[in-house]
Formats: sequence, structure tokens, C-alpha cells
Amino acid sequence: MQCTILSQEVIPIKKSRKLSKLLKLHCAQCGTCCSDPVIELTDSDIKRLVKHTGLPTDRLIKLYAKSDFTTVNDTEDWINLSYGKRQLGLRKKMDGSCLFLSDDKKCSAYEARPMACRVFPIDVYLDEDSKATDFELSDVIRDKFIKCRQYSGKSNSFSQFRLKADQSGKETASFCRKIKQWNRKPERGGKDDFLNFLGIKTTE
Ligand code: SF4
Ligand code: SF4
Repeated sequence: MQCTILSQEVIPIKKSRKLSKLLKLHCAQCGTCCSDPVIELTDSDIKRLVKHTGLPTDRLIKLYAKSDFTTVNDTEDWINLSYGKRQLGLRKKMDGSCLFLSDDKKCSAYEARPMACRVFPIDVYLDEDSKATDFELSDVIRDKFIKCRQYSGKSNSFSQFRLKADQSGKETASFCRKIKQWNRKPERGGKDDFLNFLGIKTTE
């Protein structure tokens, strides 16, 4: 999540050389990025996944502590709960892989997959109006936390990527505003209180 970046000034770019290079990357569908990092979620992601899969919220999400992350960013997107700071992420299977990663390395919730998965491996930076303005190769790959087998080829569509990036930006910004509102509340609640605050049902 990029709640801190929202308040920073970012130089607006359109189709830069950097982005053009990133758009040439093609996923080899090795499944590694679905097997390791915590996939952070917004409330919009959760609502889409519940609707698509029919699964109850508790089967989809987990509130992760700082110790669950390879690198810890001390940003404003930590949710202050009564028992500590947490981040909302997609639940993993016992082997650590994503709940939706099938045996053939495909995503079984592809149509409703989180926005983070749709723009991966590109990190989208936002301006104060929640517009995507800058792009980087995800630090998960750049810093070699995982071995990504992407290869360079014909460019993916800039306009399609931009649509996804803008939607991701808007949903992230909206979620970040909600976290800030929640964190300002005088009394800290637990997981269900937070989900109810987001307008997400916690029972089947
Ligand atoms: S690790 Fe890289 S090549 Fe493998 S699935 Fe993820 S993005 Fe694709
Ligand atoms: S939701 Fe799908 S694309 Fe995203 S991490 Fe899980 S299996 Fe991979």
C-alpha cells in the first residue's frame, strides 16, 4: 500500500522511457510471486473477491503483523487495532502460497484478483488526486526477494495498463483515507470492528 506516497509530490509522467521498458516485460507464469509475498488488499478487493468466490470474508483475508513481512515499511497504512498494528492481506495456504494459486500455477480467482496482482510487477505511484504518475519495477523483484522469470518481448498495451493503474490508484487512495479515519478514532477495535467500519460483512 502506498499511503505515504499519496501525500508526496510526484513528477507527472505519461508514456516515459522507463514505463515503456516495463511494459515490455512478460510473465512466465512460474507462480513464484503468488507463493511468497503477502498480497495486500483494499476493501474494494475484498468486496470483489467475496462476490466472485462466494467465500466468507474470514476465509479470504488475514491481518498480518510486521513480523510477517520480508521488509517492513513504516508508513501510514498500518491499521491500529486493539492488539497491535496490522495490514490486510490475502490469506495463504499452509505452504505459504496464495489461497487462489492452483496446482497448475494458475489463479483460480483471476477475474476478481486483487488490483496489486493486476498491475504486478509494476509499482504504481500516485499524486494527491490519486492519479498514477510514476512507475517502478516492484521492489519484490528489484531487490530479488523472489526469483522472477519474466522476459522482455513485445510491448503490452499502455492504455490498458494505465486504466488498471488508475483504478488501482483510486481504490488504494480511498482505502488509505479509511485507514486514516479509523486510526484517528479514540477507541481501538478489533478485526471485526474494522471490517464493519469498511462496510464488509464478517459473517456468512
Ligand atoms: S515471479 Fe515473475 S514470472 Fe513468475 S509468475 Fe510472478 S511475475 Fe510471472
Ligand atoms: S490472487 Fe491470483 S494472481 Fe494474486 S497472488 Fe493469488 S493466485 Fe496470484
